[in-house]
Amino acid sequence: MAVLPLVDRRDPVLREKARRVSSFGPSLQRLIDNMFETMRHEHGVGLAANQVGSHLRIAVIGIPRQEEGEEDTTDTYVLINPEIVRRSGEREVDEGCLSIPGFRGKLQRSVKVVAKAQDRAGREYRLHAEGLLAQALEHETDHLNGTLYIDRMEAVEALRSPVLAGPEGQTPAAPHGTPDTETVWRMRRPAPPVIRRR
Ligand SMILES: [Zn+2]
Repeated sequence: MAVLPLVDRRDPVLREKARRVSSFGPSLQRLIDNMFETMRHEHGVGLAANQVGSHLRIAVIGIPRQEEGEEDTTDTYVLINPEIVRRSGEREVDEGCLSIPGFRGKLQRSVKVVAKAQDRAGREYRLHAEGLLAQALEHETDHLNGTLYIDRMEAVEALRSPVLAGPEGQTPAAPHGTPDTETVWRMRRPAPPVIRRR
């Protein structure tokens, strides 16, 4: 397994709609393994393939689970061709992104979502999620549609830097050369509103 380099926040691949996966062969398996390795290396809870320069519709998620008296474990999900099929409720969350290191912002996400996807063998499944998993599913499927979390923010005041932790996990402290908030805000492309069933 290998840690893959993250593309720069300005890379056009982050703004493209990713292509459907139709082949579940060895190269896909390798990419999935490397995405998990990269996500763990970056202390993230999710990663979309375009963040490492791939045009394929793939996301991985790893949600830490801490239960009393048990060792820390991580619930992992492979999402091939994922799609959110139902959203309900609304809540304010604090979010960041491995592709925009050093920043965090407040925005609205769904309380619950239902996603459909394929696993790494191509088998279709549905995932009912709430909390951090629901947030990660919305964040990562947005990535695969070329949408960044800043696109869903309403005001530049809700964006802040530098930060030490992000919702894709521990976003590193603002690295050398981190742009100012206005520069990041200018990258924003307002996203179409999501439809929620309450
Ligand atoms: Zn992200």
